[in-house]
Amino acid sequence: MPYKEMKKNLTYAVIDIETTGGRADRDRITEIGVVITDGKNIIDSFESLVNPETSIPYEITRLTGIDNQMVSDAPKFYEIAKRIVEMTEETIFVAHNVRFDYGFIQEEFRRLGYAYTRKKICTVVLSRKAFPGLRSYSLGNLIQHFNIEAERRHRALDDAKATTVLLSYILDSQPAVNEINRLVRDLNLASLLPANISADKINSLPETCGVYYFYDRSGELAYIGKSINIKSRVWEHFKGINHKGEKMQNFVADISYKETGSELAAYLVESYEIKKFKPYLNKASKNSKLTTGLYIRYDKHAGNYFSLENRVDENDADYLISYPSLRAGKKALNNIIREFNLCPDVSIGIVKNQPCFDHMIGYCYGICCGKENQEDYLKRMELALAKIKVKLEGNWFLVDKAVSYEEQTVFYIEDGIYKGHCVISKEDAPMASDIIDSIKPVSHQIDYQKIIKRYFNKSFIKKVRLGTTI
Ligand SMILES: [Zn+2]
Repeated sequence: MPYKEMKKNLTYAVIDIETTGGRADRDRITEIGVVITDGKNIIDSFESLVNPETSIPYEITRLTGIDNQMVSDAPKFYEIAKRIVEMTEETIFVAHNVRFDYGFIQEEFRRLGYAYTRKKICTVVLSRKAFPGLRSYSLGNLIQHFNIEAERRHRALDDAKATTVLLSYILDSQPAVNEINRLVRDLNLASLLPANISADKINSLPETCGVYYFYDRSGELAYIGKSINIKSRVWEHFKGINHKGEKMQNFVADISYKETGSELAAYLVESYEIKKFKPYLNKASKNSKLTTGLYIRYDKHAGNYFSLENRVDENDADYLISYPSLRAGKKALNNIIREFNLCPDVSIGIVKNQPCFDHMIGYCYGICCGKENQEDYLKRMELALAKIKVKLEGNWFLVDKAVSYEEQTVFYIEDGIYKGHCVISKEDAPMASDIIDSIKPVSHQIDYQKIIKRYFNKSFIKKVRLGTTI
């Protein structure tokens, strides 16, 4: 469809919500206002208070005027969920700071076990482009600037109506044309999909972490992949204009998925299942793609220094860790250098006897120009090495997120070997031995060890050291 016609046909759902606070994973919606518009006229609107099933903090009530009593008889979110799905079907989701409103609504649907996804645009982002140079892009300021009518500020429908007026101004501007073009391009991607897969099918995939499966026309499993965002990763497969993308378009007749909530679990499940099912479109294990090795070399002028090399040799006594590319290796090494206040020159064997850039900006303590003594520096170098060279020994639980907020994924490591994982409720605190009993054991695989090592020191993974006897 030509762009002009598409633009004419786009429908927008301008949405504003009030909440009990700022965090979608913890706070709840107290009011929602929806305006359906073609960009000029209001086609439909909806407004409802929502019982948040939790209390509204006083400072929020002061801002919105919505108090606990007002919402006590209001419908709960699940009672209006169907209406919201139907009203916003095939529309572009619009909000002032869309991440906030979209995030909360998506989260409410997630609690109901439903994956809510819409194309979205943000009137803050677009206002900045369309009307540059304003003091502030808050809705309040834009309302004032354009003299937009808004009866009750911070109530959902009135804010949504004001945002609708703002949207109509934005749509008349050039930056909006570019943004709309992008949306139309995305919508047209639907034409790239395999014959048996509808855009709805892909849009109903969750935007969460997990493993996905492609089946061919005869129902055979053709491909297994993992992602922290299943839906967007699946889209990418079909957008791909390379040979593989084309192949996928011809092959895939059905898609299924398994949410894991945990990135580490997604990696392990993918690795396990590729080995088990051997889907014919999966090439050899992805871990074989690690091409760059980090080594600790020695030189009598420079002492011990890090060396990124275009080879991975785990039998080399100086070998530390491997990365998928030189770029990834450099990035990881730079993070380590900054974290331990090492010198970016000295740590890679460059001895110039002059201050490095990092010393000038305060990260490097000056080993490069004689301002730090050798002993202190070597201590930090040792700490950095310990962090890089993860040696798995002892018994551990690694704890990560799960699909539900009420649960967590526990990975069990026994004598340094990954044994399996399970999902437990956060509320009951089971004994370590019960957790271990409920794990379906996996056989020892070098790939699992690599994956576990890569995640062992990630800040979002909680580690629990277990005694030697459990
Ligand atoms: Zn330095």
